[in-house]
Amino acid sequence: MLLIACPNCGPRAQAEFTFERPLASIVTPTETLPDLIHKLFTRENPRGPSWELWRHTYGCAGWLKVHRDTHSHQISAALPVDMETPS
Ligand SMILES: [Zn+2]
Repeated sequence: MLLIACPNCGPRAQAEFTFERPLASIVTPTETLPDLIHKLFTRENPRGPSWELWRHTYGCAGWLKVHRDTHSHQISAALPVDMETPS
């Protein structure tokens, strides 16, 4: 069973969480229209480690940043959404 360590609740089954999107595709209100279109519709789908936005939908309902390998699905980190991601 795949576990995700929610910063609020601790380790929980992946089935309690919902994947939202890769962090690189998150848009802000200050971006230009071409940048918005690129981030929303033409983003890459890399194979390997990726930072993603997830939600603990069937738990605390909190948002978190998850570092997941898109090939092996191994999760190496789960951070509060307001915490800076390591580079
Ligand atoms: Zn939680």
